[in-house]
Amino acid sequence: MQRLIYGSWVFLMTVSLSGAQAHRFTVGIGGISHESNSFNPNKTTLADFGAARGVVPSSPADLLELWRKSNTEVTGYLDGAAKEGFEVFAGFVASATPKGPLTKETFDTLTARLIASLKSAPKLDGILLALHGAMVVDGYPQGDEEIVRRVRQAFGPTIPVIVTHDFHGNPSPELIGLSTALVSYQQNPHLDTRQRGRRAASIMARTLRGEVRPVQVIVKPPMVYNIIFQNTYAEPLLPVTRSSMELERISPKVLAASVMGGYQYGDVPYMGPSVIIVTDNDRELAEREAKRLAQMLWDARDKIVLNLPDPAVAVRQAMAATRFPVALFDTGDNVGGGTAGDSTFILEELLKQKAIGWVMTIAEPAAVKAAVKAGIDGAFDMPVGGKTDSLHGKPVRVRGMVKSLHNGQYIETEIRHGGGRYFTLGLTAVIEVEGSTRDDKNLLVLTTHRSSPNSIHQIVSLGIYPERQKILVAKGAIAPRAAYEPAAAQIIPVDSPGPTAVNPARFTFRNVRKKLWGMD
Ligand SMILES: [Zn+2]
Repeated sequence: MQRLIYGSWVFLMTVSLSGAQAHRFTVGIGGISHESNSFNPNKTTLADFGAARGVVPSSPADLLELWRKSNTEVTGYLDGAAKEGFEVFAGFVASATPKGPLTKETFDTLTARLIASLKSAPKLDGILLALHGAMVVDGYPQGDEEIVRRVRQAFGPTIPVIVTHDFHGNPSPELIGLSTALVSYQQNPHLDTRQRGRRAASIMARTLRGEVRPVQVIVKPPMVYNIIFQNTYAEPLLPVTRSSMELERISPKVLAASVMGGYQYGDVPYMGPSVIIVTDNDRELAEREAKRLAQMLWDARDKIVLNLPDPAVAVRQAMAATRFPVALFDTGDNVGGGTAGDSTFILEELLKQKAIGWVMTIAEPAAVKAAVKAGIDGAFDMPVGGKTDSLHGKPVRVRGMVKSLHNGQYIETEIRHGGGRYFTLGLTAVIEVEGSTRDDKNLLVLTTHRSSPNSIHQIVSLGIYPERQKILVAKGAIAPRAAYEPAAAQIIPVDSPGPTAVNPARFTFRNVRKKLWGMD
């Protein structure tokens, strides 16, 4: 869910990648990316987009260098530009960690900046837009659609506007009508972000050269494809993903085949999975293939059956395991799905059941400050977590000592969920919690910023050896798999409460277009 967060949110630039050559096309790059959880009461504001996130580019050239070193769709746009020989105009790109819906003022400000940045280009032949697809705004439930509408109003009906979406987007038919083509990630965990950016750039180049005329069709099966079953590397989704990839490979007229899982925490008209097929001027083919893949999603209903252990049972299962470490995925506090990152339901059970050798991360700036004050080896004793709202459990008293303090910056050099490279947790403390033994340490990681556990370096960078721990708690559902499958002997998704609880029956939907299968 969560994607690479660039260093800062103000990127107004007037550089192009190479010297102006009149015969070359120029494509503007821009994007505002947010996955908004309708059930999180904490609104997303400009401050969330502006929060310090580690690496801040020092110049436009430095920014392009940061983009190039990552593995996101924007990196893919740049790959495509180099391969296809078009120039890039780098406009405004902004992103924030998933949270509640954006305020209207935040949205208006960001969208105006995006448009102003692209308007400052000497000329533009096309626009590549990196949007998440699950943005919710006060007044605009389908936020991404509104962005494309405003871009269209500003640049006219004929300029090619090619949009990329996260796999978790909830696109509307209106967005399909407003954009020239939509290309989403095909994989979850999202390991193909860069390839999808390349594909979007390639469609752009071919469209500009007059080689293809994209037409696109969206089909939405009337269901919730539950997040727990949205692993595209496993049944029941794997055959659908394979089929979409095969379609792009074997059919020259299919420019892009995107099967999107949807985002079930968006209470918006077009919540749910989507299939979008883009063809070269063949609507009938697009319609036929979109319907076929949508039918494959629909036909998996009998395999989408929720049966996960609650925190008490999951901790018991982990303690009784024979192979370690066991990773417990805290699905109710899925930071990449827009939660507070300070849920205590699993922590409470770890302490109650006297588990040993565990590591868990909680976003708690106040507790970090207390740890810094105590200093390394200093005593730590305070209630931790459950402080942001009433949805993430109660604060839990934690006693122990401060083991280490960190600035929280780390790098992921492998391709992991979302393709990000630079991350920061902010000031971070590792607490060795009471009950630790000489060999098995109970480690509570307290961070200043919320951060989805997309990279194992989130804990490795703190001097924690995952292979020496018995229980690793990661606050996520599917995204952390790419990082934790190589590190853990077993993964247990836990049915924990919170704004990303896996069972849609826990939530009241008011804005979805109709009652969908899987909602209750
Ligand atoms: Zn996603």
